[in-house]
Formats: sequence, C-alpha cells, structure tokens
Amino acid sequence: MSNMFKAIMISQDEEKKQSVDVVLLKEDDLMEGDVTVEVQATTVNYKDGIAITGKSPVIRCWPMVPGVDFAGCVLSSSHKDFVEGDNVILNGWGVGEVHFGAYSQKARVSGDWLIKRPKAFSPQQAMSIGTAGYTAMLCVMALERYGITPDKGQILVTGANGGVGSVAIALLSKLGYDIAASTGRPDEAEFLKSLGANEIIDRNELSEKGRPLGKERWAGAIDAIGSHTLANVLAQIKYGGGVAACGLAQGFDLPATVMPFILRGVALLGVDSVMAPKTRREEAWARLAQDLDMSKLDAISTTIGFDDIIGAAHDIIDGKIRGRVVVDMK
Ligand code: NDP
Repeated sequence: MSNMFKAIMISQDEEKKQSVDVVLLKEDDLMEGDVTVEVQATTVNYKDGIAITGKSPVIRCWPMVPGVDFAGCVLSSSHKDFVEGDNVILNGWGVGEVHFGAYSQKARVSGDWLIKRPKAFSPQQAMSIGTAGYTAMLCVMALERYGITPDKGQILVTGANGGVGSVAIALLSKLGYDIAASTGRPDEAEFLKSLGANEIIDRNELSEKGRPLGKERWAGAIDAIGSHTLANVLAQIKYGGGVAACGLAQGFDLPATVMPFILRGVALLGVDSVMAPKTRREEAWARLAQDLDMSKLDAISTTIGFDDIIGAAHDIIDGKIRGRVVVDMK
C-alpha cells in the first residue's frame, strides 16, 4: 500500500447532499496533467471553507479533492519548464474546484499553472501567505497602479483579522501607508496595531445600508467583504481615490450608487487571483518576498496538520480563524 496516499474527497449523492471523507488514492486516480507534485504544505482559504461546508457552489465537478493552493516538490514532469526536484507553488486555476486540488499528499496539474517557489520562502511560509496573502499583494499592486501612494492619505482595510486583511495590513505598513482596519473583533485591536494598523474601525459602522455619499475619509481601500460594506466604503473614498475589491465575506451583491464614481472620480479596481496571468503572479510573489515582514507573517499564522483541515474549514466560515492557517502535510 506504500504507493497510496491520503486525500480529502467531497462527493455528492443523487439528492445533491454533500459528504466529505478522507480517502486513499493512487497516482492513477489523479486527473490529467504534465507535472506530478508532492504536496508539502497547503492552507485553508475562505473558498476552501465554502467548498468543504458546501455553503455555496464552489465545486463544479464531482467528486472533487478540494484545496485551491499548495507548495510542493516536483516528483515527475514532462513540462518544458519543470524537472524533478523543482520547488513550486500553485494558486487557483480552478484547482480544488474543477481539478483535483491540494488536500492530497500528491497532485497532478498542468505545468502552466505552476510558478517556482521564491527562495525567500519555505513551503510552509509560502502557504502561510497562500492565496489570501497573494491576493492581498495583488490588491496593493492594484492601488499602486492607480497611483495611490502613501502621501495620498489613509488606506482602509476591511475584514482586517482575516487572511487577505491581515497580510494586506502587514504589506501596507512596510510600504509606509497609514492604515485604518475595519473589524468585527475589536478585542483583536492590539494584534491589528502590531501588524501596522493605526486606527481600528468597528465593522458595524460599514455593514448596514448607507448614504450614496459620505464624508471623504480614505484615499483608498482594500475590501474583502462586498455588499453594503463595499458600497459604504466607496461612498467615503476621497476624491480621485480607489478601492481594490477582491471578496464577498458579507455578500456578493453591491447595493451602491454611481455617485462616488461620477462626482468624485472614485475607481473600483477588481482583483482576481484565480485566472491572473503568470507574469502578474510572478510579480506578486517577488513583491511578497521583498515587502512582507516575515516576523509579522509568523504572528499571523497558525500551523495545523492534514487531519485538522475539515475542522478549520468550518471555523473559517464561522469567522473563528484569525489570520492564516498553514497545513503542514509532512
Ligand atoms: P477570512 O475568512 O480569513 O477573512 C474574512 C474576514 O472578513 C473575517 O476574518 C472577518 O474579519 C470578515 N467578515 C467575515 N464575515 C463578515 C461579514 N458577514 N460581514 C463583514 N465582515 C465579515 O477570508 P480570506 O481573507 O481568506 O478571504 C476574504 C474574502 O476574499 C473572501 O470572500 C474570499 O472568497 C475572497 N478572496 C478572493 C480572492 C480573489 O481572487 N478575488 C482570493 C482570495 C480570497 P473581522 O473578524 O476582522 O471582521
């Protein structure tokens, strides 16, 4: 049985009732791909929580091994860019949604989806960043491309205690921005300040239906929440500012008006990590190696084992996780 390995499998019965099991697989069970990888570390992202709890339809092919990102070592490859022993990372591309994913000791994927792991990070550190942290970097880059430099004023980060939010605060702080952090966990204020937040805002201030325009407060924002929160954030962005929007923790609706756009020239900057082109991914990971304070990354992260993944997936949906969860697959 030594060629068997452990994986989490999500299945659906005829009544579309979902079940989650730990199973043993062999390499032949894996889906098509030109690179086979030993998964060394993975993580529990919000999307993984949605998949395992079945909260929304993330999985589009059944049965499915969930897990949208991993760090690993190439076991075999027929792809021109990778050879046995290469250290790689994968974020997105439908892995864990339509292609067997990271919650498996081995994965077979397209080499086009992989990038080389930056030397600055161990597999565990790369997954401590994970898709949430890489998305936080994409959000910072979106604000920068829009010209929102530290001298323009304060930046709001919503969902501050979450994965995207906590890494975004650490990054913005290293880059010299003044940061306001919005959270539903005010008891974590000291933690958020230690990451670099200067002001803490109660998320209830932003979560109810608000006015089309409010007082101009922030030069920019990184929003992982959507719904009324994003609408209220847009209504309080300063003239010419912008919001990098990447998430839907409150909801996927956007009950906003056009007023911030047409009266203040505010920009809504959409951020997607799943299908982002390879060059942008490589740029984001290189920037993470340069701009993320590793001691803050340690403070944000909790390490769990394979057997704890399913529990952590429920916890992230219940809002019980602070920062990032790393799964050490060893
Ligand atoms: P986490 O669960 O780690 O963080 C989400 C945070 O949002 C929570 O910690 C909480 O912060 C806040 N929150 C949760 N529920 C609500 C609510 N009902 N109303 C207001 N705030 C709430 O998730 P991630 O950081 O990993 O992901 C955040 C979002 O970004 C998700 O929607 C995810 O799907 C999305 N995402 C999108 C990506 C993309 O490619 N566009 C990639 C990665 C993530 P606090 O306790 O501080 O209030």
